[in-house]
Amino acid sequence: MMANHLKHHLKKEDWSIVIIDEREEHHYQPGYLFLPFDMYTPDDIIKPIKEFIPKGVELITAKIDRIAPDENLVNMADGTTISYDILIIATGAKIAPEEVEGMKGAEWQKSVFDFYTFEGALALRNKLRDWEGGKLLVHITEMPIKCPVAPLEFTFLADSFFRHKEMRDKVEITFVTPLSGAFTKPKATETLEHLLVDKNIKIESDFAIEHVDNENKTIVDYGGRVLPFDLLVTVPTNKGDAIMERSGFGDDLNYVPTDKATLQSKVKPNIFVIGDASNIPASKAGSVAHFEAEILTTNILHFINGEPLNETFDGHANCFIETGNGKALLIDFNYTHEPVEGTFPFPGVGPLRLLKESRMNHMGKLAFRWVYWNMLLKGTHIPFVSAEMKEAGKQYE
Ligand SMILES: Cc1cc2nc3c(=O)[nH]c(=O)nc-3n(C[C@H](O)[C@H](O)[C@H](O)COP(=O)(O)OP(=O)(O)OC[C@H]3O[C@@H](n4cnc5c(N)ncnc54)[C@H](O)[C@@H]3O)c2cc1C
Repeated sequence: MMANHLKHHLKKEDWSIVIIDEREEHHYQPGYLFLPFDMYTPDDIIKPIKEFIPKGVELITAKIDRIAPDENLVNMADGTTISYDILIIATGAKIAPEEVEGMKGAEWQKSVFDFYTFEGALALRNKLRDWEGGKLLVHITEMPIKCPVAPLEFTFLADSFFRHKEMRDKVEITFVTPLSGAFTKPKATETLEHLLVDKNIKIESDFAIEHVDNENKTIVDYGGRVLPFDLLVTVPTNKGDAIMERSGFGDDLNYVPTDKATLQSKVKPNIFVIGDASNIPASKAGSVAHFEAEILTTNILHFINGEPLNETFDGHANCFIETGNGKALLIDFNYTHEPVEGTFPFPGVGPLRLLKESRMNHMGKLAFRWVYWNMLLKGTHIPFVSAEMKEAGKQYE
């Protein structure tokens, strides 16, 4: 996204743009949600990175070991170095199941699964194809996580998956969260908890996991609460890349300290951050990275020209929430405004309804894959959806 934006503004005689990524393939991570239920295939989710690199931009496929901010250098794992004038960190977030005792134990990918990695989602798909039922726990270890609604979406899709297989009566589904409710924002929590109750899904809140007992197939929290499972689908702790720890500037979870309004890092003025790698209090979502890209492009140009940066990033997030049975909700919010009911993108007209289940929202969620590959990655502006959140059309009290 950033290369696509910046190449239109930077003269090629003055600037070279280099992307470094250790992978050769890019994954559409929102698709990991659908893979376990056989709704998407691996081909829907994975494409070669080089297909998305704009002309004139260099792609280096190699692992970064650390960043040396004082020398303006990136040290590669193979011992070479690459110098920069401006660095944009976009290394994302990864799961760290090793943070919880026993999580990656004997039952890992036997009865304990994640769906936040391609390998995890695929192994879970194979398990669900012939699982005969029992106690299913869908569990969040700790916040923040990427796409904080994804575990709820997984829960709703599981309900609908087992209903279609005519085995819902054989599965007891419990949503287990460290939060005191289903979600981080009050109004959305109310709506989502209603849906859980309607679908006969139990909720165990305030569950701060201490360990996974592989022998007895239970999870145990710090207060001694014990929950048995036949199948545990967990979202492990999410962390930024270990580069940050090795470079000496990550926070406790390896996220990069970043100004939440300008997206400039607090490490050094010529280092900026986009996407899940930062510690800003916005959702870790592709839509957020898309809105950030527009503002970050302007700020990088200001930085080059020695001008003050715009403090305009408002934490805007826009997410479809699959609720099963071909329906979904849509939420649109920012740092200061929680998700509420209303219409989107046109006030009073819609056609999408906020915080209400509809088939149109489900179509929007499915269309998001096309939008991601064809517009988001290419840095194309999505018509009628601005980087800064609009209050019009939303029912704030
Ligand atoms: C199950 C699931 C469902 C989701 N659903 C949604 C959704 O519905 N809507 C939405 O908007 N978002 C959703 N997301 C979140 C979205 O996928 C992420 O927020 C988005 O991909 C973040 O982009 P990023 O560029 O910050 O990081 P990433 O896309 O993770 O990219 C990071 C890149 O950095 C590279 N890298 C990392 N470390 C190194 C290193 N040491 N050396 C070299 N390269 C390195 C990686 O190879 C990778 O290519 C979902 C995520 C998950 C897991």
